[in-house]
Amino acid sequence: MRYTSSVGSACVARQTKKMADSDLLARHRAVMPDWAALYYEHPIELVSGEGSRITDSGGRSYLDFFAGILTNMIGYNVREVREAVQRQLSTGIVHTSTLYLIRQQVELAEKVARLSGIEDAKVYFVNSGTEANETALLLATCARRSDQVLAMRGSYHGRSFGAVAITGNRGWKPSSLSPVNVHYLHGADRQLPAFAGLTDGEYIAACVADLRYVLATATAGDVACLIAEPVQGVGGFTMAPDGLFGAYKEVLDAHGILFVSDEVQTGWGRTGDSFWGIGNHGVTPDIMTFAKGLGNGFAIGGVVARGSLMDGLPAAGISTFGGNPLATTAAAATLGYVLDHDLQANARALGRLIIEGLREQVGRLPAVGGIRGKGLMFAVDLVEPGTGAPSPRLATRVLEETRARGLLVGKGGLAGNTLRMAPPMVLSEAEAKEGLSILVEAITAVNAEGTGAEGTGAGATGAEATGAEATGAGVTGRKEAPDE
Ligand code: PLP
Repeated sequence: MRYTSSVGSACVARQTKKMADSDLLARHRAVMPDWAALYYEHPIELVSGEGSRITDSGGRSYLDFFAGILTNMIGYNVREVREAVQRQLSTGIVHTSTLYLIRQQVELAEKVARLSGIEDAKVYFVNSGTEANETALLLATCARRSDQVLAMRGSYHGRSFGAVAITGNRGWKPSSLSPVNVHYLHGADRQLPAFAGLTDGEYIAACVADLRYVLATATAGDVACLIAEPVQGVGGFTMAPDGLFGAYKEVLDAHGILFVSDEVQTGWGRTGDSFWGIGNHGVTPDIMTFAKGLGNGFAIGGVVARGSLMDGLPAAGISTFGGNPLATTAAAATLGYVLDHDLQANARALGRLIIEGLREQVGRLPAVGGIRGKGLMFAVDLVEPGTGAPSPRLATRVLEETRARGLLVGKGGLAGNTLRMAPPMVLSEAEAKEGLSILVEAITAVNAEGTGAEGTGAGATGAEATGAEATGAGVTGRKEAPDE
């Protein structure tokens, strides 16, 4: 009797929870914009977290391989960050404005300037990656007295007017209006038929030749800057071969064109081999932008550039919330944690373990078009078995299957067919293996659905991205919206 009633009450609790979730979803849809997509057929609300794990409002726990889009860089409920923030809150000061000295801001700027490798660097803090890129555009266009900007095909740089204008990803480009004149370069589009079969060196040579050609023929000759992501985030972790941006920089330097590295996703050691993503190309840029992981969830972004560039704006500027005491306190604690625990080395070792594991165990499945990554930033392309066409459908299925097995992952790519993973950099080896095995299970199950048979799986070497990337969409949750 008691048993029956407790089962009954558990049932009622589940029902109530389901109703509460669908009620929240309905309320979300009523007041939030249609273009702000949610993951999953039944979207989830995440309510608590610890380390690399997070729990939803129904009490279900997940290993988190997407970290709030690479933003919970050192995981959840980190004592060092929590205590630093609580100490700051207990002073009674969350905000003073930048009209007054902010000790934490100065100390953080000193640290970022030193880590940047940029000579005589100065730092300006804002609240997001978008604002950071806007600031970089302002610095470069003012310094060069030019509105001409080079950007990369497949890029994403944010959602403001200027950031959308330098974004080369149709699914995230709601407007063609632009405050700058943009020309797009090759470099992260190796999958195009025109580049089929080229070695890294040949591809780089072709891209550099095209850059020279664009400069000589398509621009008005006084380009302000090139802005590029070392690994394209929203673009599906597509990336230029190491060395491409070094080769580009030689050409840019010859023309006095500034190079801006958008490190919003790739900074702070996440790519493993290098502290900044651009370090993989042997280049120190003129300007770097950053955001996402630095505050481990607290809103902070920024720009670091040569002092002469930073000081070059001919009018006053202010960011009301940029670099506020709370955000810079959280950021200093986060950055300190990354450096003290050498999380870059962890990203390198565990990234290798997972990427190699994926290549071995699912690399040859017909539904897998490619596996790539650097450090704890890795991706799997899903394709239609038989045709090899990009398959947002199967990517969505894997998203659901991983969730059902207790793993959160992301999705992206120009065609919406790429699973993107970027766990907190505090991930343990046991968690890396657990996540890998869930990924393998989920991809293998979806491959079997797609082919009507179990795939062979093992023994493959990793294929590079192959699926020709269609424009547009393929996202879960809403019509034709590509995933973040
Ligand atoms: N740059 C890159 C490379 C990004 O991935 C993003 C966001 O995903 C941005 C800029 C924009 O950052 P935010 O969303 O903080 O404005």
